[in-house]
Amino acid sequence: MTLNTCPRCTGPLGIRPALSRITTARTLTICTPCGIDEALRDADRKAPIPPTEWPITS
Ligand SMILES: [Zn+2]
Repeated sequence: MTLNTCPRCTGPLGIRPALSRITTARTLTICTPCGIDEALRDADRKAPIPPTEWPITS
């Protein structure tokens, strides 16, 4: 895994990586689609997928 790889989906981070809301410190850098997915799960009151279950390969 490189710094340019999203740890959540193993995809490229892209030019505007997001900060995962998983941690209160928001220090995990994830790609934009993952950031959107987390936001959608949050809006849908779904539990976030913990980093221990990353990468997500669905
Ligand atoms: Zn991702």
